[in-house]
This record gives sequence, C-alpha cells and structure tokens, in this order.
Amino acid sequence: MGFTYRNERLFAEELDCEAIAEEYGTPCYVYSRAAMEAALAQYHQALKGCEYLVCYAVKANSNIAVLDTLARCGAGFDIVSVGELERVLAAGGDPGKVVFSGVVKRPDEMRRALQVGIRCFNVESAAELEVLQSVAAELNVRAPVSVRVNPDVDAGTHPYISTGLRENKFGVATDAAMALLRRATTMENIHITGLDCHIGSQLVDMSPLLDALQQLLLMVDALQAEGIHIRHLDLGGGIGVRYRDEEPPAVADYIAAVREALGDRDLGLVFEPGRSIVANAGVLLTRVHYLKETDAHSFALVDAAMNDFIRPALYQAWVDIQATSPNDAEPRLWNIVGPVCETGDFLGKDRELALASGTLLAIHGAGAYGFVMSSNYNTRPRAAEVMIDGNKPYLIRERETIGDLLRGEHRLPQ
Ligand SMILES: *Cc1c(COP(=O)(O)O)cnc(C)c1O
Repeated sequence: MGFTYRNERLFAEELDCEAIAEEYGTPCYVYSRAAMEAALAQYHQALKGCEYLVCYAVKANSNIAVLDTLARCGAGFDIVSVGELERVLAAGGDPGKVVFSGVVKRPDEMRRALQVGIRCFNVESAAELEVLQSVAAELNVRAPVSVRVNPDVDAGTHPYISTGLRENKFGVATDAAMALLRRATTMENIHITGLDCHIGSQLVDMSPLLDALQQLLLMVDALQAEGIHIRHLDLGGGIGVRYRDEEPPAVADYIAAVREALGDRDLGLVFEPGRSIVANAGVLLTRVHYLKETDAHSFALVDAAMNDFIRPALYQAWVDIQATSPNDAEPRLWNIVGPVCETGDFLGKDRELALASGTLLAIHGAGAYGFVMSSNYNTRPRAAEVMIDGNKPYLIRERETIGDLLRGEHRLPQ
C-alpha cells in the first residue's frame, strides 16, 4: 500500500512520482495518507476491547497535515516540547489525548500543557517532579503524572537510539522510581496515574520490550500492595520497520503478547509509536544531476543531501534507493551523494542501479525522522512536503526560499 511499482514506474497511491516531481520540484518528501492510516489502524485493531490510547510520537513526522490525518483516525499524541504541543493544537488534535515526554520540560512548557489539559506528564526525574508540583500549585490544578522507568534493558538497536540502559539519560531506575512514586503521593498538586517506559527505537525483537513490561508489572503489583493504584501503563514506541531485510515483530503479535502479560490486572494501555506509523508511508524524491567516475568509486551526485535526510550519515542507516522509472543505462554500483561539503554526506553506498543524468530516485522509508531532522546546513532551503490522497496531491509544506532562510538575521550597524 502507499508506494507501488506499476510497469517499473513508482506510484504514490494513484500518482506517478515523476509527475509529482515535475509539479513540486526536487528534493521533495511525498507521503501516502492511506499508508499512514493503515499503519495506525493496526494498533487500533490489536487493541480492540481494551481501554487504550495510541499516542503517535510527533517527533517522527510533525507536519500538521500528518497530525490532522492521524487525529481524525483517533490518535492521541506523544510530545517532547511545547512546540509539538502547539502543532497538535494547530492540527485540531485533542489535548486530552496528549502525553508529554522528555527529560527537560521547562516551567513555561508545563504551564501551557496544564492550561490546555493534557492527559499526562511522563516525568523523568525527581527534580522535574518538584518543579511540576510548584507549577501546578501556581495554577491551582493537579498534574496527572506517569513516572518514566528506566528498566536497564538492552534494546539491541543503534546506540544513539537506545534509551533504556542504565547509562542513558532517560527515566528513573526502578528502585528510585518506587521512592519517587511514594513521594509523589504526598504532593498536593500531583496525581499519579501511570508508569511508562520507552527503551529505544527501530527494535526488531520484541523480547526487550516484554522484559521491560515485566518490570513495570512487578512495580504495579508492589505499589498496589502499598495502596498506590496505577491506572495505566505506557510502553512507549520503538517497534521497528523493514528498511531492507529486518523482520520486526508484527504490531498485532506484540500487542497480543502485551495483553497476555497483563493478565487480569485493571490497567489501561498507552503506546507511543512513531516510526512504525509513518516510516514506510513516505519517500524522498531526488534527482541525479551529475555522474562522476573516480579511480575508487562511481558517484551519482543528487540534489538531496544530509541536510535533507540525515539518517544514513548520523546512524549509518541503510535505506532503499530506487529509480522511479526504467532506464537504458547499464546497471552498476553507485555511491549516491549530495551537494553538502562533507564526506559524510551520503545517502547510500554501493547501490546497483541503472542511472543517467536526470534520473529521478526515490529514497524509501523516509516518512519517519526524515523532514523533521532536516536543517539549513550549507544554506540549503528545506524540501517541500506533499501528501497524496488517492489521485490528489496536496502541498502540505512549501519549499523554503532563500528569503525564509535570511529572515531574522541582522547585519551590524554601520
Ligand atoms: C522517539 C520516542 C517515541 C517514538 O519512537 P519510535 O521508535 O519512532 O516508535 C516514543 N516515545 C518516546 C518517549 C520517544 O522519545
């Protein structure tokens, strides 16, 4: 669904990607509405009959058209900044379905979140809890709180996106979390509602997720014995996707295993999926400008760069790169590289492709952690974003102009 090849030409739903690139230029992010809706529906389907909330992790792709699409399908949102909260509100999302994660929530961010009435703060330290108590007291409200537990499990993913190990900055170790929860019950403006964890991203094995769940359940039972009732468990995001040949767990299997582990406990469930909702609902289109042969390599020089899509450079991520239409050239191994002045600026290495100057390429799996991580490095305007819905394209973010880039900068007085 979403992106398919018809007679060797790539289609985004009902539209030929060549036509989309003609219309909107390159580099250009293209998303499929149907693909993201289908990915979200898998969560809803697997959670039928439970008390639950699927809080899409806004950071994976925060365009307000994406948020709007998911909100209309019943999604809540996991945010990590007040900026993301404002996006959710601008997209028509329900603040009552928002959970707020992140290790540094400033008092002004807490204030805004309390004013709009979010579902829950996922608190990550004792110091944060004290500040939240005082902000809530100022507003004369009670802040709903979940404590983020760091279960010290190895998610087995790239170190930069592994978050559930003792040495990581995230969450509170189990013993300290128990102490924090006891303290929280004595705070007038704090209302404990849940426990949460998020151990990492692009997990291709569900056993670390289930290990973390077991630790949360032990805590739930121990707290119950002390008279502290936990109402929901938030298991974060992290389910991986297939970029190449990974075999991530099916959402249905993972959630079935979670439901089984809960037994007959009276617990609501929250999930915070990001990547598994949007990664394969997007491609980045980029055009080959020059072909360049050196003694060591054949380079295809394209108009997208690490500033547009940083995952290969930052995480050594492998993403599928394919031509969007057939071509007479002899297939050979190419390094696909962009215009940025860094050797680390590559999108893919040693890819067997038939390329000519002008070939349009699709970088697959670019719907998550793509546009949102783009920058203006080398004074490159950020790409356009287009959402396809059936046979209709919608420009959901205009390509930046150089004027946009210079706005807010000032020369010194003469
Ligand atoms: C990034 C993040 C997520 C989403 O992770 P995915 O791997 O994209 O599903 C969920 N929760 C928290 C707290 C996060 O930081």
